[in-house]
Amino acid sequence: ARIGQVILDNLREIPDFPEPGVLFRDITPLLANGEAFGKLIDELAEHYRGKIDAVAGLESRGFILAAPLAVKLGLGMITIRKAGKLPGPVIGVDYELEYGTARMEVRPEAIHEGQRVLIIDDVLATGGTAAAAVELVRALGAEVAGVTVLLELAGLNGRDRLPGLLVESGVTF
Ligand code: IMP
Repeated sequence: ARIGQVILDNLREIPDFPEPGVLFRDITPLLANGEAFGKLIDELAEHYRGKIDAVAGLESRGFILAAPLAVKLGLGMITIRKAGKLPGPVIGVDYELEYGTARMEVRPEAIHEGQRVLIIDDVLATGGTAAAAVELVRALGAEVAGVTVLLELAGLNGRDRLPGLLVESGVTF
C-alpha cells in the first residue's frame, strides 16, 4: 500500500495513446526518480526474498524492473520476449490480442526445472501477455511463484486469465 502511493505519485496518464480511446499509464517518471525507483525495488526484494529462484521480465518494461530486482536478490534474470527478438532455439506461445495475435518467446536453457520463477511487468491489462509467460515457464517444468505488476487495470479482468496464481499489484485501477 505504501509503495502504491510512491507509484501513483510518479505516474503519468496520457489519453489517446498509442491510439484514440486508450488511456496509457506511463511509469517512466517513476524510473527517472532515483529515490522512488530504489524504494520500489527494495520493497519488492524484501517481499520476495527467499521465495523465488529467478525473476522473469516481460519485454520491454518488465525488463527494467526484473533486472535490478534479480541483482538485489542475487538471482538470475530471464527475458521473455516478443516474437523474433531472441536468437534460437526458443519456445513460444501465441495469444490473442484485441486485434490479431501476438507471441512471446523464451530461451529454454534460461529456465530450469523446479525453479520458482517470479514474472514481472509494468501493467496487467487483459492478462494475455502474463498468461503466455506463465505457459512458457510451466512448459519448461518450472513453477510460477507469482505475477507482480506495478499497475493492474482491474476492469479488464486480467486476473481471470491467471487462475490459482498469486497476482500482486502496487496500484489497482
Ligand atoms: P495485456 O496482455 O492486455 O495484459 O497487456 C499487458 C501488456 O501491455 C504489458 O506488457 C504492458 O506493458 C502493456 N500495457 C498495456 N496497457 C498499458 C499501459 O497503459 N501502459 C503501459 N503498458 C501497457
